[in-house]
Amino acid sequence: MSKHKIETKVIHAGQEADPSTGAVMPPIYQTSTYKQQGVGKHSGYEYSRTGNPTRSALEANLAALEGGKYGLAFASGMAAIDTVLRTLEPGDHILAGNDVYGGTFRLFEKEFKRYGLNFSYVDTTDLKAVAAELRPETRLVWIESPTNPMLRITDIAAISKLAHEYSEKIVVGVDNTFATPYLQQPIRLGADLVVHSTTKYMGGHSDVVGGAAISNDEALHERLAFLQNAVGAVPGPMDSFLVLRGIKTLPVRMDRHAENANTVAEFLDDLLQVEKMIYPGHASHPEYEIAKKQMRNGGGMVSFILKGGAEEALRVAERTKLFTLAESLGGVESLIEVPAAMTHASTADSALAVDTGLVRLSVGLEHIDDLIEDLAQAISK
Ligand SMILES: *Cc1c(COP(=O)(O)O)cnc(C)c1O
Repeated sequence: MSKHKIETKVIHAGQEADPSTGAVMPPIYQTSTYKQQGVGKHSGYEYSRTGNPTRSALEANLAALEGGKYGLAFASGMAAIDTVLRTLEPGDHILAGNDVYGGTFRLFEKEFKRYGLNFSYVDTTDLKAVAAELRPETRLVWIESPTNPMLRITDIAAISKLAHEYSEKIVVGVDNTFATPYLQQPIRLGADLVVHSTTKYMGGHSDVVGGAAISNDEALHERLAFLQNAVGAVPGPMDSFLVLRGIKTLPVRMDRHAENANTVAEFLDDLLQVEKMIYPGHASHPEYEIAKKQMRNGGGMVSFILKGGAEEALRVAERTKLFTLAESLGGVESLIEVPAAMTHASTADSALAVDTGLVRLSVGLEHIDDLIEDLAQAISK
């Protein structure tokens, strides 16, 4: 399987016709427990928190896509991140990007700080800033690239090298939700661990909440697998099936997301009402060269700052008709949101606060002419 291209892996990795019926698609094994032939004699499954065949198919698929040996599926992206943080000890230091997902920031600050973990937030696009923050107690470097919602790009290979040269004890973890393994594979770039909110592009249809953690290191995997079972934040078989089903079309979806996002970016870049357009696949992006080096294309997310500020951002977001006003991203349908008032409200008044005039688009797979027309009528009024 590892010799195959990702377009093949999304469809076949971890999936074999069901041995009992020949079903081509992995069945939804909607069961909590499994009959044992004798005490302790079973076919690999005992209880569905510990393991479920539908989930196993998803986990093997996720590992193959990220070029990792081990994949674990979780009930949500936050459950995956929570499990990663539980591998740490009181006193450990975590260096995280200063533009991390709002929910990640909240989990770090409101929960894990209470358990004696120490966090610092730095601009991970600045290698010197990262180097200056590494400490003997640093055990985890947490990167998102592209970030949410500013779409900043961090050089994953450079940060991984820097962190590992500083200490072999540092795990470099990348939240690869925005890029997906079709655009970028952090483990191949030198990272130790990848997490996903499979709720977004991996699932791809806004019909399921899920998460994943993929690694290449056996000891790290064993610890995460122990926690997955001990804590129990696992996805059910139906949700595992939905994520698997979504993944099969990931490459075709991501290509079209990027094609549409590119056109939207060009359109916004030319608008007088737009102060700043942010898209990693556009030459105006500050880290365009790094994006070109580590990503297949610019992805499906576009952010922009309106000259009219917060008021105008809210007005535009309420005026679009095709772009649905909603949190989340990565589905086939286009979404619009105002991070300062919605997804990133929890970062208000902190160092991570975002521009109140910022609008974030998840550009979907509708016809590009219809998307442009919708944005044009919403912004020009
Ligand atoms: C949505 C998201 C998460 C959280 O995932 P859930 O599935 O909502 O728990 C984490 N990181 C990023 C980058 C996200 O977009």
